[in-house]
Order: sequence, then structure tokens, then C-alpha cells
Amino acid sequence: MSTPPAARPGDEGNDNAPQTAENLCRRCGGSGTVDGEPCPECKGTGRIAEIVGDA
Ligand SMILES: [Zn+2]
Repeated sequence: MSTPPAARPGDEGNDNAPQTAENLCRRCGGSGTVDGEPCPECKGTGRIAEIVGDA
């Protein structure tokens, strides 16, 4: 009675990652800058991760 239940890989519970997709930032249009400053929306990357598929 000293062995804890081991989680087996591939069993289940490994599919809780949200469905995300990278899109061009709408705020800066993918340039990463707005008015000469790093875009606050995408933090200068020009891309944002959006959660898609809310099923
Ligand atoms: Zn942006």
C-alpha cells in the first residue's frame, strides 16, 4: 500500500489543451507596431493566438 496510482501515458486526460490558432493581429495588421510603438495587442509579434472552435 505504498505505491501511488501511476498515471499511464496515453490513457486519457491528455486532451485538455484549448483549440488555438495563430492569426495576424488585427490591431497592427501583422506589422507588430502601432503608431511606431509595439502593438499592445500582440506585443509586437504581429500575431495573436485565438481560441477557435468552442464546441
Ligand atoms: Zn498587433
